[in-house]
Amino acid sequence: PLHLRDENQMHRYVRINLAKTTKEKVVEYFQNEGYRLFNSSPVGEPKPPKLFSKSKTFVLDSHLPDLLVFPPLTDLHDHPLYLNGDIILQDKASCFPAHVVSPAPNSKALDACAAPGNKTSHMSSLMGNTGTVYAFDMDMKRLDLLKTLTAKAGCTNIVAKCQNFLDVDPLDPQYKDVEYLLLDPSCSGSGIINRMDSLVDHFALCVGHDSAVKGANKEQRLENLSDFQVKIIMHAMKFPSAKRISYSTCSIHKEENEHVVAKVLGQQDRFLLAQRKDVLPGWPRRGLETPLLTKEQSDSVIRASPEDGMNGFFVSCFVVDPSASPIPV
Ligand code: SAM
Repeated sequence: PLHLRDENQMHRYVRINLAKTTKEKVVEYFQNEGYRLFNSSPVGEPKPPKLFSKSKTFVLDSHLPDLLVFPPLTDLHDHPLYLNGDIILQDKASCFPAHVVSPAPNSKALDACAAPGNKTSHMSSLMGNTGTVYAFDMDMKRLDLLKTLTAKAGCTNIVAKCQNFLDVDPLDPQYKDVEYLLLDPSCSGSGIINRMDSLVDHFALCVGHDSAVKGANKEQRLENLSDFQVKIIMHAMKFPSAKRISYSTCSIHKEENEHVVAKVLGQQDRFLLAQRKDVLPGWPRRGLETPLLTKEQSDSVIRASPEDGMNGFFVSCFVVDPSASPIPV
């Protein structure tokens, strides 16, 4: 297996912004510029042909329909399609959550810890720029960056609010139809090995600055983080129309990932873990085994690793139990 520790060896991923353009148009644009499109491998990560390491080649991603894969070191920061917001340069793993939560067009979605907004604009893209995405972040500067980046991406269905998500009232009538919630809260950032997004210090953004992530030593810090992450998920579950909630981190620690999922499953019975068949079933790397989850539950969550050519990442999805009684509003 590959052990990629260096961002110079990592594929470059290009997300097509469906809020503004189509896959066909973007592929054609690159081809007209002399880029050659190779076939993706049928299973697993693209196993590019030798030529793939040459510049001016690309493949269609084999798991996500709105993603193109370019060879390591391809730099598209000055590309016209990046500058005009038709494409977003985003690590593959960080494109998983929006696909997993999969908001329907014309629906109401919510991004609880949203800045700088890559996943917010991804939800907007998957919704074809229809419906509404409420985007919260408690950091004004980061929220300003979210507003700038989502405006550049042409997203007109995002309502950005500088607010602590834990203080948002789930029973406020304006949120009564929110069905899809994407939770990507502050984490240790231990999975990050590259900084594809040159505009922001991704590491600082993931780790956050609030007291929840501080602690005397690593164990204490992870415990504080995991308590905070559980709180965010439990709060999201109070939204009366919530039916699908993704929880993700760019951490490799079980304490922030599988263990958080297990704690949430133990603390409430309104939401179940979505089954593997509904959570990118074709993606091979699944959750780590832990006595706190059944084998089937570990198999229902996703991990990504630098060995897959991307940052370390974790994604899980909760779905409302159809037999649960409705929350009175
Ligand atoms: N989802 C973002 C993206 O893909 O661009 C990255 C989010 S980053 C991992 C975590 C964010 O959560 C930080 O911007 C931080 O300011 C924000 N945050 C932390 N605690 C929060 C809270 N209680 N309410 C709202 N935002 C919070």
